[in-house]
Amino acid sequence: MKPDVIVIGTGPGGIASATTLAQAGVNVRIVDEQPYAGGQVYRASEKIAASRTSLREWLGSDYAQGLDLIQAARREGNIDWCFDTSVWDISCREDGIQLGLLKDEKASTIDAPHVVLATGAMERPTPFSGWTLPGVMSIGAAQTLFKDAGLIPDDDVVLAGSGPLLYLFANQLLNAGTRPGLIVDTAPKWVSARHLLQLASAARHNLPALYKGLAWRQRINRAGIPHVYGVCELHACGAGRVESVKYRNGGRIQEVPASLLLVHDGVIPNTHLSVAANCHHIWQARQRYWQPQLDVHGQTSQPGLWAVGDGAGILGAEAATLKGRILARHLAAKLGLISPNESQKTSQNDQRMLAKLIPLRRFLDQQFPPAAAFREPGNDTVVCRCEAVKAQEIRQIAKLGCVGPNQARSFTRAGMGPCMGRQCGNNVSQLLADELGKSVQEVGYYSTRPPIKPVTLGQLASLAD
Ligand SMILES: Cc1cc2nc3c(=O)[nH]c(=O)nc-3n(C[C@H](O)[C@H](O)[C@H](O)COP(=O)(O)OP(=O)(O)OC[C@H]3O[C@@H](n4cnc5c(N)ncnc54)[C@H](O)[C@@H]3O)c2cc1C
Repeated sequence: MKPDVIVIGTGPGGIASATTLAQAGVNVRIVDEQPYAGGQVYRASEKIAASRTSLREWLGSDYAQGLDLIQAARREGNIDWCFDTSVWDISCREDGIQLGLLKDEKASTIDAPHVVLATGAMERPTPFSGWTLPGVMSIGAAQTLFKDAGLIPDDDVVLAGSGPLLYLFANQLLNAGTRPGLIVDTAPKWVSARHLLQLASAARHNLPALYKGLAWRQRINRAGIPHVYGVCELHACGAGRVESVKYRNGGRIQEVPASLLLVHDGVIPNTHLSVAANCHHIWQARQRYWQPQLDVHGQTSQPGLWAVGDGAGILGAEAATLKGRILARHLAAKLGLISPNESQKTSQNDQRMLAKLIPLRRFLDQQFPPAAAFREPGNDTVVCRCEAVKAQEIRQIAKLGCVGPNQARSFTRAGMGPCMGRQCGNNVSQLLADELGKSVQEVGYYSTRPPIKPVTLGQLASLAD
């Protein structure tokens, strides 16, 4: 059956949108490149529920909530689930939106009058010296291996960076019986006096969430894991692979042996499809990321193309669920399946809950800003790891008159590798902006052309079938 709405992403934002749309009588197709529903946060929930009970316990009670969300969606008969399917192209036309899909080595196209982008977040790429050495990974990647395959690092792992995921992952490792060797935290230990107002405002409605974060830190402390705060410089050192980690805090450089360094510096919206669809984007200066510009209902600057969840701006899983429901009711009203009045009335409670979450996010954004240790990479640090382009090369071409990331791509090949600029895009824009004395909004971002995910010529040729 031809779908009325295609939802891309089976995380909380996508699942909540699809369920609410289906309940209103909309035919929904939900697409995800992963083999299971759940997105980043509830990754592989159904598989884990069916098999590894201990893994589910190690991942904690928040993770367990995902299963209820997915099971509610599974009960709706008018949701067509397409797993292992990546969206590699998007084009907005007058008669609707066309997507290029890839499944089982075969490319195909599909169109619908409305598409909801619920593509979530990705970890902020962290260029620092030695980050491309084998043995250096992101915490998100390690957590994915943990959730997907039950893989757990050895006891001496060093965790570095900042943000709630750092503390959550350390706790998940403790649950699984692994004790990280060291935590190198780029955030300060205490909330600074100038953020106390934000903390008070967040605490008004979010005490349990704040206690949870505090409890994670206390457990790390009780487990006797060395935890260094306020780190302002990080290096992964070694010949051929990481052998030690060097960091600076309080004016002193320390070096510790390490065979695995896991790094995390917060998350940023995954905007590759909204960029490819030529939607307007705005630069969020505090957290240093691009987000699609949306109207109050979540529609992008392209008619019929909507965005929800962390892909539309980082707010977390609970907000993604609430926003997914609110957007879906508005869309169902637009399709004539419920009245605008009903849509507004039934969304009031979700709107209220959403409003309570905003101060918590503001506080987290203040407390865990992108770390200075990664923001200004040294000249010798590789920025584009696919094409091995160093920060110095980007700074040099800016001095020669390069005006923006697209020219930088032609001059240096940064952004031309297999990740298509997903890893280096923001850093190249930031480096150019700093060097040119402009804002990142002025400098802009790579323009993106299909395919936004790697597709072979053979797979493309299958379009003719
Ligand atoms: C690595 C990582 C780990 C995280 N771990 C946690 C955690 O443990 N706890 C927590 O509370 N929060 C965690 N977060 C934050 C959390 O992911 C978000 O707050 C929440 O998942 C947002 O939900 P969402 O629906 O917007 O997107 P997501 O849950 O991220 O779901 C997006 C989905 O879109 C799919 N997708 C994206 N692009 C395409 C495409 N082109 N084609 C097909 N499918 C596509 C992805 O495969 C994914 O399943 C993590 C974030 C990251 C990046």
